[in-house]
Amino acid sequence: MVQSSVLGFPRIGVLRDLKKANEAYWADKISQADLLAEGKRLRLAHWKIQKDAGVDIIPSNDFAHYDHVLDHIQLFNAVPERYTSQKLAPIDEYFAMGRGHQKGGVDVPALEMVKWFDSNYHYVKPTLQDNQTFSLAKDPKPVREFLEAKEAGFVTRPVLVGPVSFLALGKADRGSSVNPITLLDKLIPVYVELLKALKAAGAESVQIDEPILVFDLAPEVKAAFKPAYEAISTLGSAAPSVVVATYFGDIVHNFDVLPAFARVQGLHIDLVRNPEQLEPVLKQLGPKQILSAGVVDGRNIWKNDFQKSIALVKTAIAALGADRVIVSTSSSLLHTPHTLTSEKKLPAEVYDWFAFATEKTKEVAILAKAVTNPEAVRAELDANAATIKARSESTRTNDPKVKERQAKVTPEQHNRKSHFDTRYAQQKAHLKLPLFPTTTIGSFPQTQEIRVQRNKFTKGDISEAQYDEFIRKEIDLAVQIQDELDLDVYVHGEPERNDMVQYFGERLTGYVFTTHAWVQSYGSRCVRPPIIVGDISRPLPMTVKESKYAASISKKPMKGMLTGPVTCLRWSFPRNDVHQSVQCQQLALALRDEVVDLEKNGIFVIQVDEPALREGLPLRKGSERDAYLKWAVDSFKLATAGVEDSTQIHSHFCYSEFQDFFHAIAALDADVLSIENSKSDAKLLKVFIDEDYPRHIGPGVYDIHSPRIPSEDEFKQRISEMLQFLRPDQLWINPDCGLKTRKWDEVKGALTHMVNAAKYFREQQ
Ligand code: GLN
Ligand code: ZN
Repeated sequence: MVQSSVLGFPRIGVLRDLKKANEAYWADKISQADLLAEGKRLRLAHWKIQKDAGVDIIPSNDFAHYDHVLDHIQLFNAVPERYTSQKLAPIDEYFAMGRGHQKGGVDVPALEMVKWFDSNYHYVKPTLQDNQTFSLAKDPKPVREFLEAKEAGFVTRPVLVGPVSFLALGKADRGSSVNPITLLDKLIPVYVELLKALKAAGAESVQIDEPILVFDLAPEVKAAFKPAYEAISTLGSAAPSVVVATYFGDIVHNFDVLPAFARVQGLHIDLVRNPEQLEPVLKQLGPKQILSAGVVDGRNIWKNDFQKSIALVKTAIAALGADRVIVSTSSSLLHTPHTLTSEKKLPAEVYDWFAFATEKTKEVAILAKAVTNPEAVRAELDANAATIKARSESTRTNDPKVKERQAKVTPEQHNRKSHFDTRYAQQKAHLKLPLFPTTTIGSFPQTQEIRVQRNKFTKGDISEAQYDEFIRKEIDLAVQIQDELDLDVYVHGEPERNDMVQYFGERLTGYVFTTHAWVQSYGSRCVRPPIIVGDISRPLPMTVKESKYAASISKKPMKGMLTGPVTCLRWSFPRNDVHQSVQCQQLALALRDEVVDLEKNGIFVIQVDEPALREGLPLRKGSERDAYLKWAVDSFKLATAGVEDSTQIHSHFCYSEFQDFFHAIAALDADVLSIENSKSDAKLLKVFIDEDYPRHIGPGVYDIHSPRIPSEDEFKQRISEMLQFLRPDQLWINPDCGLKTRKWDEVKGALTHMVNAAKYFREQQ
């Protein structure tokens, strides 16, 4: 019999219950007991969903109140002393590491949080000391939750982050210089103890995640697998059997590590992302080892194509026999929304194309039956085939006009008419900007009043005309304040935008939106990405009305503001039936029309934001990364190159570490780049001199994430540091990012100092 399994289930709950409980606890509105009870309620509900779906192998310890890597930091007593010394209750110490703690005389910042591989989930980085020790926490969470499930009648497979990934994903704490992987010897005995405790509690099998196997690994990290897994897999009947799970990539380039796993029960691989690794992996397995075939996508919301998955699983069965194959999700379902049944407003046609986490648990169960006994699930198979066919033939999916336009895209369309020098000469004459021009990144404070009016408009309580009138007043205010501040290039402030991707998605064909499809981003923060379902086009201008109005009342150049094609793609659920480069090019063509329309309407400075360009970078160096950079850069250029030389194209990035892809940033050929820089060393700007970067740059001069208003002297100090690395004629003066999360008095205070500092340097020249 082929079994079915799920690698992890979303924790947040059907109505973002966990978010609400956590936030209520943080605000002292519910007790610790209430919070923990809510966690338990969610775990039980999620196990029941999977059991009812018919899943054979159900995970436990996949739940976390904040983050599962953070759970392990506590589990291994690897909590830095600045937290333990506060003597907080365990759950408060845990949240203190996740989000900082400023209460009752205690003031500790959070540990660093970073993106989980190439997903939009963020994990808390294990932060380790030179003299780090590890020990197993009292009442270890994986054991506790296994027993909790067992008591409620669910047999589960606990999930652990593997020892090598745990260390390799960590870092040395401030003041320490330890290479985390060298701590392996100290960590292994704790895993051994934990595995024995799980076995004693009744666990027959565990899932140990080693996702770093999809990376290019340093030799010392590669070498760590052997001692780790020898210790873990030679415990015999004293420990559960171990399935090592990898996801988000292929492991073929790390095959030399596989002997380390010779004695584990089996391997899990991601066959959604890399189906071609199936055959080579099958050849590597030992004579009794099992393969967990990740065929149901843990990262996207599409209904599984059963026919394709069955073919893959059957290949595995042919090689191994049915008893040695498990049908599984490609990764944890953490990255998908809870259930499709919450969506009451989706068009019926597209509703039938989706499967969220709850529906995916049914898919693995059906697939496990289908591969050996299709007749038992004939109705499900037929319905699935009908859906896949309907989707592929839908007019929503296929727009011949879009395809025709894509077929006609020429290389020339990616390039501006002239070289930067010629463009700049014209822009200078046309825009008449001073040295060290000052500007902002786009948004101004999204006040309570803006949210209230937007809500009223969405609910139909006010008319479109009333809402437009309100937006115009907000733009009036933004322009008036910029007059007072004496900025050089204005923005309209983006009061009409809820979100930088959804706003555009709502104005493009090819997108649909959900009402409840939240996905955890970090801690209690969730995002609700729009879904690209079909070929994308722009029926009407999207931003011209607001920008044109803003320009009409402003005496200085008004900057048009768009979200770039790569960011629109990355912050949506993309289609899985055409390559992402194709979707990105469609977005680029739609934006190109918008850019040209803005120019026609008197907007001669246009900023196209690409904050997500970097996160799309494939995890490994090499051909895949090069291909991504090519199509991502091409999309940006296609979107922006349709304008005259005298129109100035800006782009914005929320980071400043360009070392690994400086050439891509340079290849965008944007006239002006604004980047985040205030919290980094100004030395990072050196790359621009070293590489002889000819165009203009605005490295953020202050941190917009903080309410703090820097003094004029701090601005001057920062600007003089920047001038060590950039030419005076090259430097723009602007904040790190948009100002939507700030209050107006903070914005006015900071920008007044910023403008004064710019003027000071202008006078020096
Ligand atoms: N123009 C956007 C804003 O100012 C940019 C946001 C971002 O970079 N994430 O809000
Ligand atoms: Zn930004």
